[in-house]
Amino acid sequence: MDSSIVSKIEKSRTYAEQKERVTITTLQASFDGNHNTYQITYDEAGWDCQCHYFDTRGVCSHTMALERILEGMLVQREKPATKV
Ligand SMILES: [Zn+2]
Repeated sequence: MDSSIVSKIEKSRTYAEQKERVTITTLQASFDGNHNTYQITYDEAGWDCQCHYFDTRGVCSHTMALERILEGMLVQREKPATKV
């Protein structure tokens, strides 16, 4: 390995501990729930999940779990109004 890649690897380790450097603006994910696998997206419109609960509430355990995993890395957006 040449010396430049070694220094890049070292820098990446430092960066990886500084999550605040990263802002996730869009995301597409597949989430293995207990009953099904759901496709989840995150973009200018906020979260979207295929599950029925999200359909009715605009939030679900899958999007909340991803919010926890990505804490501090997501663009701050207004929470969607809760649909009843
Ligand atoms: Zn969901």
